[in-house]
Amino acid sequence: MMHERRARRPAGAIGLTLALLVCPATASAACGKVSERPWCERSLTPTQRAEHLVAAMSQLEKVNLLGGDDPTGVLSIRHTGISNGVPRLGIPDLHFTDGPVGSRTGPTTAMPIPLALGAGFEPRLARRFGSTIAGEARAKGNEVLYAPTVDLMRTPLAGRTFETFGEDPYLSSALAAPWVKGAQARGVITSVKHFAPNNQEGYGGGRADRARPGDRLVAIGTLVSEGSRMQVNAVVDRRTLHEVYFPPYEAAVRRGGSGSVMCAYNRLNDHHGCESAYLQQHVLRDEWGFDGFVVADYGGVHDTGRSIRNGLDFEPWPSLLYNPASIELALATGEVTQEQIDGHVIAILRTMFRFGFFDDGVFPVTPERIDRRAGERAARTVAENGTVLLKNERGLLPLQASELDSIALIGAGADSYTTGGGSADVTPFHVVTPRDAIAQRLGEELEILHEDGSDRAAAARAADRADVAVVFAPDYTTEGIDRRCPSLQCPPAFGDQDALIEAVAAANPRTIVVLETGAPVLTPWRGRIRALLEAWYPGQEGGHALARILFGEAEPGGRLPATFPRHAADIPTAGDRRQYPGIDDEAVYSEGVFVGYRSYDERGVRPAFEFGFGRSYTTFSITDLDVARGGDGHVALARVRVKNTGNRPGTAVPQLYLGLPSRPGVPQPRRKLAGFEKVGLRPGEAKTVRLPITRRDVSWWQESQARWTPVRGCVKVMAGSSSRRLPLRDELGVGVGCR
Ligand code: BGC
Repeated sequence: MMHERRARRPAGAIGLTLALLVCPATASAACGKVSERPWCERSLTPTQRAEHLVAAMSQLEKVNLLGGDDPTGVLSIRHTGISNGVPRLGIPDLHFTDGPVGSRTGPTTAMPIPLALGAGFEPRLARRFGSTIAGEARAKGNEVLYAPTVDLMRTPLAGRTFETFGEDPYLSSALAAPWVKGAQARGVITSVKHFAPNNQEGYGGGRADRARPGDRLVAIGTLVSEGSRMQVNAVVDRRTLHEVYFPPYEAAVRRGGSGSVMCAYNRLNDHHGCESAYLQQHVLRDEWGFDGFVVADYGGVHDTGRSIRNGLDFEPWPSLLYNPASIELALATGEVTQEQIDGHVIAILRTMFRFGFFDDGVFPVTPERIDRRAGERAARTVAENGTVLLKNERGLLPLQASELDSIALIGAGADSYTTGGGSADVTPFHVVTPRDAIAQRLGEELEILHEDGSDRAAAARAADRADVAVVFAPDYTTEGIDRRCPSLQCPPAFGDQDALIEAVAAANPRTIVVLETGAPVLTPWRGRIRALLEAWYPGQEGGHALARILFGEAEPGGRLPATFPRHAADIPTAGDRRQYPGIDDEAVYSEGVFVGYRSYDERGVRPAFEFGFGRSYTTFSITDLDVARGGDGHVALARVRVKNTGNRPGTAVPQLYLGLPSRPGVPQPRRKLAGFEKVGLRPGEAKTVRLPITRRDVSWWQESQARWTPVRGCVKVMAGSSSRRLPLRDELGVGVGCR
């Protein structure tokens, strides 16, 4: 639940009079004198203060506050949007910025993509991630941050997969809440997006195949013709929404206390996100107790009356439908009421009070206060923690520099900065490429050969000459357009990289591939290379992180937050255009709760690399699963012992999955993630990890009752190192005895 920052007091004039009589006025200098501005009384709740303030506002001031005032919006130099305040009453201007990878606009610490954070399986790092971005957003004078993106990956083809934390609701929730807390601890309001669900961009005919990094038209999404996010109707049942797509939002709002939510462009069950009473009123406010404000995605408002009636508080840009003329017309024609308008103004003001903008002022522009070193450390740590070691035959990695004379660095990612496009694309303060970082460390000791991969024969010759060859293979994914297929060639921005890898592997038996991709990709050559790392888009410090990992200064700490398919046809939504991208702009989520690995399990399809999988430079044992009933308000407590059985320090990620019993009409996935912990262990060291099983974990969303209902039966409890490596098994009876 949301907590108001000030003590609760009775609302209205009586409450105010009492407060003034009992204690001395506690106004802040910035806000003004309580005698003139009763909303400056700090001992009142944010809601009470907002109510006093709205009573003092003129009608024009109120309706003006519901729309943004920056005509340039996303194109503006400093902010992604601005909302002018009311100087007469001391309402400050608000400034908005994207985004999930770093604060726009202007140079910033370019973090690794959120999918890399997902791969980190480390909530503490999510907090640091949010805090780093929000700290910089604040120093650039922004009070509101449009992030994090907590939509799930439904298909790896989706252009914004890189912005997500992956395919699993439990993992995404575990990261969303601390992300928001870390950001809001900086005083910045987060706006989690895009509520919901918002899982595809759509196809763009031949355009998709020509997408190139920095292609602005593609990023804006104007060229999409099929299944476009702007109008596609996601047909999803409420159980699936609550069990799969809503949890990360719920975590961000209830556990994280997010002050804002951004509604999505697309429709859910016929209603656009920004005019859905179900989403904005019933779920967000009634079920979850959200009392912040809802912001429209840019251009996501279609009807002034419907949005005002159904819960949208603010249209930041271009405010074509939330402007004084449109709002007054809706009021005059009886489409909306004055009370609804006041309610939206109060939601915005309440949040501004809650975040102290009246008492402490808004943020000055002080970019010189950005701690760039701290940002670099955070970016590098996330990159190292999120890089996943998928293959390491005969322990080729980490490389021993002393045993090498030469190394070939090959491919489009060897000496460039790779990232995704659209509103999450930021300008890095600086870039450290793998080639830079390796040269810095080992330039004296090693001969470094470099080929960008555009000439395959030259690349093969370099690989042949070197002791070891590393191919850095990026892809390009972007907001605004989906990929046509999950291979490195879609779109072929960097040429035929599969053929490049095959050629290099044929020339050098010691070939390592480092993927720098924004989503899972096909790896048809994986049997012919010695080692494989997935580094995602690793951010501005990616080169340092990769150099440290390749040469053993750091451990690749990641586990897959999304399934890597063996074939394009294995993707959960493949082969059914009704599911994706939809027919006639209708995408039917008929797979229900079987999303991600749950779908592979259900269909009996073997992935190339499964959810939760990732190797280490050391080895671990996970043993002694013990499931004890009750304790600390939980249904049960699972414990496992994890031990470092190798001879290097490393990080293990023991994982707990539950298999709930199905009942007629309520099929359950074979297993779903219900607990994990990231544990750093020295050689020989062991720890017992406690993984609580909550009532929610053993419940399903019963649509007819609109509530969580515990299953009745034996729940399978499984523990191990990935979704398919679960050697430890037990059972937990819910409402019945099992053991
Ligand atoms: C994106 C949002 C973003 C907004 C402002 C939209 O196109 O969908 O995620 O916050 O633009 O840049």
